[in-house]
Amino acid sequence: MNQFSTRDGELVLGGERLSTVAARVGSTPFYAYDRNLIRQRVAELRAALPASVKLHYAMKANPMPAVVGLLAGLVDGIDVASAGELKVALDAGADPAEVSFAGPGKRDTELRQAVAARVLVNVESARELDVLARASRELGLPARVAVRVNPDYELKGSGMKMGGGPKQFGIDAEAVPAVLARIGELGLAFEGFHLFAGSQNLRAEAICEAQCKSYELALRLAASAPSPVRFLNLGGGFGIPYFPGEQRLDLAPIGANLAALAERASHELPEAALVIELGRYFVGEAGVYVTQVVDRKVSRGQVFLVCDGGMHHHLAVSGNFGQVVRKNYPVAIGHRADQAAEESVTAVGPLCTPLDILAERMDLPRAEVGDHLVVFQSGAYGRSASPQAFLGHPACEEVLVG
Ligand SMILES: *Cc1c(COP(=O)(O)O)cnc(C)c1O
Repeated sequence: MNQFSTRDGELVLGGERLSTVAARVGSTPFYAYDRNLIRQRVAELRAALPASVKLHYAMKANPMPAVVGLLAGLVDGIDVASAGELKVALDAGADPAEVSFAGPGKRDTELRQAVAARVLVNVESARELDVLARASRELGLPARVAVRVNPDYELKGSGMKMGGGPKQFGIDAEAVPAVLARIGELGLAFEGFHLFAGSQNLRAEAICEAQCKSYELALRLAASAPSPVRFLNLGGGFGIPYFPGEQRLDLAPIGANLAALAERASHELPEAALVIELGRYFVGEAGVYVTQVVDRKVSRGQVFLVCDGGMHHHLAVSGNFGQVVRKNYPVAIGHRADQAAEESVTAVGPLCTPLDILAERMDLPRAEVGDHLVVFQSGAYGRSASPQAFLGHPACEEVLVG
């Protein structure tokens, strides 16, 4: 993968050889995330998008405290989806004024914690309003609320659709005016709207279309709001290339589209900041998963590399994290990262299930027991999105390098 260099054929992570990073970590498997790649990604986005558009990090993509701390210093806000994530964000130094809390099924205690922390709650049901009003009274603090809208459209071509049709997320657009009236009655501090239509999209036109529709919908709903819109979160959905043939997302048309929307907002919603929330786009390509070959065997002509890591740490690489068809992530043999392929191998993990696949019939340089197998594009939805306890293998380390 061209975001990483090699030295004498060996992959380099954060300026160090992979074998040195592995020695520092002390054991495999582990995830390593490169600080500079995360910084570069934020800088690229800043350069491509209008300066007035705020960038938020949706930390469920990678909640490692050191990563959240790094991003808290680089972006404009952190989006959390549980009280657990809220704690990590606040501990990392995120400014509560720029933290928002979304997610269906927020428990009463979590809503109360959010009020006490003075963060913005993206409400997803009318019930949450009453709980917030009570917490606000009891704590003597205003409850800051935005309405998460389940739009009447979806983000076309997304890996995961999270809006349009019946959904557990947000409040159906047609029910929002009544909720806005209730916010006014309860005297909650209304701050804006949150629209999130889908994720992992590589088509700029689809993202622009969803942003325009989100803007129009928010503008219509703003007419029923009890006070001016201060935050308009237009969602995200920026994808990264995982598989052969996938092209990078073209940021230029998205930047132009957001500039046009920001221009409109400056007179149609003059108090509103436009917000884009991204998860994998900041961190996905900056991370690798490193595992060691434990056994090499041949079964009826097929070479198997049996590794110490697998789907229990990296569910997505096994194709079981929402994928319809399993495809191979890019992988390399750590000390032969620049060598030509010599053989077709299937790399598997140590679990007693045929689902535990790291790479299927991939052409790679020859690997022996003890060599490192590296999975790229692994900085998002890795460790925290995987069933680590399944089969009782050791937990997985993670490091921030560079
Ligand atoms: C998961 C999620 C994101 C992040 O999605 P990515 O594909 O990682 O960018 C952003 N916003 C909301 C509301 C989410 O649920």
